[in-house]
Amino acid sequence: MTFAEGKIPFLPERLVGLADVALNLSWRWSRDTRAMLKAVDPALWSLTRHNPVEMLRLVDPARLTQCAGDPRFLELYDRAMAGLADARIAQDTWYQQTFPDAPQGRIAYFCAEFGLHNSLPIYSGGLGVLAGDHCKAASDLGVPLVGVGLLYSKGYFDQKISLEGWQEDSDEAFDPAIMALTRLTAPDGGTTLCTLTGWGRTLELGAWRLRAGRVDLILLDSDLPGNEDEDRELTRKLYGGGQEYRLRQEWILGVGGVRVLRALGIEPVAFHANEGHAAFMLLERAAEMTRQGVELEEAVRHVRAHSVFTTHTPVPAGHDVFSAEQIDAVVDGKWSDFGIDRDSFHAFGHHPELDHGRFHMTALAIRLCRHVNGVARMHGEVTRGLWTSLWPGRKASTLPIGHVTNGVHLGSWMAHRVMELFDASLGADWEERVDDDDLWAAVHDFDDDDLWGVHMKLKYALLNFVREQSRNRWRTHQWDATHLVGSGTLLSPAPLTIGFARRFATYKRADLLFRDPARLQRLLTSEHRPVQLVFAGKAHPADDDAKRILQEIFRATRDPRFEGRVAFIEDYDLHVAHRLVQGVDLWLNLPRAPMEASGTSGMKAALNGVPQLSTLDGWWAEGYTGKNGWTLPLALGEPDVVDAADHEQVFSILEREVVPRYYRRNEAGLPTEWIATMKESIFEAGRFFTTRRMVQEYTRDYYLPALRGDAPDEDPPIR
Ligand SMILES: *Cc1c(COP(=O)(O)O)cnc(C)c1O
Repeated sequence: MTFAEGKIPFLPERLVGLADVALNLSWRWSRDTRAMLKAVDPALWSLTRHNPVEMLRLVDPARLTQCAGDPRFLELYDRAMAGLADARIAQDTWYQQTFPDAPQGRIAYFCAEFGLHNSLPIYSGGLGVLAGDHCKAASDLGVPLVGVGLLYSKGYFDQKISLEGWQEDSDEAFDPAIMALTRLTAPDGGTTLCTLTGWGRTLELGAWRLRAGRVDLILLDSDLPGNEDEDRELTRKLYGGGQEYRLRQEWILGVGGVRVLRALGIEPVAFHANEGHAAFMLLERAAEMTRQGVELEEAVRHVRAHSVFTTHTPVPAGHDVFSAEQIDAVVDGKWSDFGIDRDSFHAFGHHPELDHGRFHMTALAIRLCRHVNGVARMHGEVTRGLWTSLWPGRKASTLPIGHVTNGVHLGSWMAHRVMELFDASLGADWEERVDDDDLWAAVHDFDDDDLWGVHMKLKYALLNFVREQSRNRWRTHQWDATHLVGSGTLLSPAPLTIGFARRFATYKRADLLFRDPARLQRLLTSEHRPVQLVFAGKAHPADDDAKRILQEIFRATRDPRFEGRVAFIEDYDLHVAHRLVQGVDLWLNLPRAPMEASGTSGMKAALNGVPQLSTLDGWWAEGYTGKNGWTLPLALGEPDVVDAADHEQVFSILEREVVPRYYRRNEAGLPTEWIATMKESIFEAGRFFTTRRMVQEYTRDYYLPALRGDAPDEDPPIR
C-alpha cells in the first residue's frame, strides 16, 4: 500500500495519518506536530532540511513500525492528529466569532511568489515570504482565503560564490514527488484544467495544490505535453528570463489563474492582487462578464467593488511596466476577448504623466480595485504621492489609498526555545491571548537570566549551523581554506554579533559599513569589545551592481585585517533566515530611505528578542519606540550625501551606544540594559508586527467591504 498519492511507500496501520500531516504545511507552525515529525528520525529530519514527505520516503520501515509501538511517540501522534482534525472542522475561529454575519464566499489571493517553506523555493525575498505568512495567518484566523501562484518547478536559484566572490547561479529544481504538492485534475482525469490564448498560441494549463492549514494554494503549471517547449518553460523559473518571459508569466498568473479557479469550481467573491504582477486577473474577470454580454462599464464597476490591491514598491522605477508593443504581442489582436478595443485596453495601464504609451501594471490594478493599500504608514503616504495623477484635480492626501503595515507569522518565526520561555512564564495557553497587549507587556517581567540563557542557546545553534554548513561545503564543493574562514568558522559566541540578511538590492546598502575599512577594522577587532558581522543574501541574477556589492562583502570576509569576524552565509533562504534572525545579537537594516516599503526581517528578529538598528524607513518609522533598538536620523539629499551621512551615523551609534550597552554587565555577568532592549523588541513586535494583526486589518478594512461590494469612494477615470 502506498500513501499520499504514492509519495510515501509505507506507513504502519496505526500511523496512516502521517500522510495527511506530511501533505499539509501546518506542521510547520504546530509545535506538537513538529515535535512528532522530528521524533520519527531526528537525523533524517535534519538531513532533509525538515521536509516530512522526503523524510517519510527515506525512513527505514522498521523505524516506523517501532514508532507505532512506542507509547511516547503515539501520544505525540494522537495529539497532532487531533489538532489537524480540529482545524478542519473549527467553528470557533476568529473570523466566525468576530464576523458572524460576514457574506459567504472566499477571497482569492493572487501573488507571483509564495515563501511557505524552504523545501519549496518559489520565492525570491520579502514579498514571497510575506505572502506565505499571510496565508498561514489567514488559516489560523479562519479567514476563507485561497492562494493562487505559479509553480516554478526549477525554483529561484541556488547560490554559489566563486573564488573571486562572483555569484554563480544554478537551478534549484525540485521534485514534486517529494513535496507536499498534489496535482489537481479535471473531471475527465486529465491534467489540463483550462486553456488560454496569448502571443498567437493556445496554452494548456494545469495546477498543483499545496495545503497550508485551512488555506489551499493553487500553483499553476504550463509544463504540459500539449504545449510548445517554449511555453512549457514559462512556469519553471522565478525570474528566469527577460521582460517578455515575465510578461507571459504574469499573463498566465492573471488570466490563467482565474480560469483555473473556475475549472476547479472555486468561485471566490473577493479578489486580492498582491503587487502588480497579478493585475491581469482583474482584466480577465471584467472580460468574463463582457463575454456574457455585460457592458464593459458595468463589468468594471463590479470588478472594482470586489477587488483589493496591495502595492509594495515605493519608487516609480520599481513598478512593473511593459511597452505597448509587448502588450500588443501578448494579446495578439484578440482585444475582443476582453470586450474592448486596443485603445481601451491600453488606457487601463496608462499613466497620465510617466512614460506615455507604456503599460503600468500598478495603474491597471489601481483602476480596477476600489480597495488599495501600501504596506506601512510611510509607504501609504509615498504611494498616494506616486499615483496622485490618476485622480486629476485631487490632492495626494485625499486619495483613497490606505496602508496595512506588514507583519510576520509568529508561529513560523519565533524560536521554539523562546516559545518555551513564554510557556514557562505565562502558561501554556498564552498563544490564545496574543491579541491582548497585556500578554505582551508581561514580557517585561521575564527573568533576565532565563531570557539571556535562551538567547545564548540560539546563538550557539546559529554558530553550529554555520560550522556544519561550512563543513558540508568544504567536502562537497572542494572549498579552499579561505572560503572556510569567510563562511564563518572563526565566529565565536561571546562577541556582539550583527546580522544583515536580505536580497542584495543596491538600495539596501550591504556595503555601507565598508566605506571606511580602517574604522570598521577598529570596531570589529577591538581587544575587549570585538564585534562580528554575518551577511547572507542573493543578488537578482540580472543585477550586476548588486553582485558587485556581494563581491565586496565576500572579499571582506577573507580580508585578514578583519580577523575572520566578517562572514557570508551562502544560499540565503527560509532555512538560513530562521537561524539568523534567532541567533544574532543585533539586526542591521540600512535601506536608503524611503526605498524600503516595509521590510520584515527586522520584525522576525525582534520577535526573538533581537533588537534592530535601522534607517528610519518602512516599518521602522512606526515600529521604533526609542527603547527597542536604534535608529539613524533621516538624512536628506543626493544619494552620495545620504550615504556619507548614514555611514557616519551608523558607526557613531554602534561605537557610542550599541557596543557599550552590549558589553556592560552586572555582577552576575548579565547585560541587563541590553536585555531590557531585547524585551522591548519582543513586546513591540509581538503586539503589533505580526501577520495575525495584519490579516485582521485586511479582513476588517478590505476583505469584508470587498466581499460586500461596498463603494466607498470615487473611482479614478480610465484614460
Ligand atoms: C524575511 C525575508 C526576506 C525579507 O527581508 P527584508 O529585510 O524585509 O528585505 C527576504 N528573504 C527571506 C528568506 C526572508 O525570510
